[in-house]
Amino acid sequence: MPHSKRRIPLPAMTPGTGRSIVYHRFGRAGARPKAYLQASIHANELPGAMALHHLMPMLVEADRRGRIKGEIVIVPTINPIGQSQLVGSNHLGRYDFLGRENFNRNWLDLSGAVADRVGTRLGRNAGDNVALIRKAAVAALAAMRPTTELQALRVEAMKLSVDADIVLDLHCDLEAVLHLFISRQDWPGAAQALAADIGAAATLYNDPFPETLTFSGVNGALWARLAGRFPAAQIPQACLSATIEYRGQHDVNHALGASDARNLFRFLVRRGLIAGRAGALPRLKAEATPIGGMDVGYCPKPGMLVYHVPKGARVRKGQAICEVIDPGDARGPKARTQITSRTDGILFSRKPDGRLTWPGAVLYRIAGAKLLAHRKGMSGVDD
Ligand SMILES: [Zn+2]
Repeated sequence: MPHSKRRIPLPAMTPGTGRSIVYHRFGRAGARPKAYLQASIHANELPGAMALHHLMPMLVEADRRGRIKGEIVIVPTINPIGQSQLVGSNHLGRYDFLGRENFNRNWLDLSGAVADRVGTRLGRNAGDNVALIRKAAVAALAAMRPTTELQALRVEAMKLSVDADIVLDLHCDLEAVLHLFISRQDWPGAAQALAADIGAAATLYNDPFPETLTFSGVNGALWARLAGRFPAAQIPQACLSATIEYRGQHDVNHALGASDARNLFRFLVRRGLIAGRAGALPRLKAEATPIGGMDVGYCPKPGMLVYHVPKGARVRKGQAICEVIDPGDARGPKARTQITSRTDGILFSRKPDGRLTWPGAVLYRIAGAKLLAHRKGMSGVDD
């Protein structure tokens, strides 16, 4: 099937305006396996869109040669609401101006709706259950009548993703190395191959799945939630759903975009979406570590921020990561407050130097293997 490009109109919120989602399909609708890739839910995070910019011509060519065996759906920029949020020469795409919510929260947990539709018919045949659940999830979405643009965006995006075998949601951080958020149940397996193929410098898993309703969270957790609800039925983890953090916000260039696209393409070959040989799996850069072992550095006071350690560095417990400087304090070094790591691990994300900071602001994240007492009960990510 030739590549197709389609547009889904969203309901207008104000007279004279109207936005839409543009998506691309490669391969035949309904073919298996199915992969769904999107970028820029946080609309000002464009490194993923750059990777897809380079990936799509590769898929066009593969499609032309008849190499696409499954179905691949690509949404280069999923959030036209956030794309339009320009204020005083700044693009602010993380929070919705109307309801102020984080665009990557409050996605739809369909497990209840699916249970109501097919719960009594789930049995011991895993393949039958997967087909029943996917059909019921699509039907539940089709029955929804969203009234706002953002609600419609969520329903329409999930209509494209919910029956996929692979869901990749492409984000980025402020200043970071390439890292990955997954569910424990996908590791090692498919998630380990993904981490190796894309070159993740850190992989963090939610155990068993993210409680927060992020996009990749709800797509993957549908299966685990239903398996928990119907323990007698055979319900496999039928969707590998991951959030890929493509480094920092300014890491948008052709060299990175092209290599990220090549890596995604190879992963799609490895998973059987595209005919061909993926070759040997690249060396895994880092073992997955638990979200409960992720040290998050919080700012204790207002001031200006300077780091001692570059992104991607291995750090030790007790090591000073950064300092907050009170610019009104004349005592030189005594005006500086050090913030130290509470674990051994990889400093995979931080802010740029020279930022204004304030009490409670997140300054950095470190992927550590040991569960941390102060992180107990924490789940999800602030992605
Ligand atoms: Zn994001």
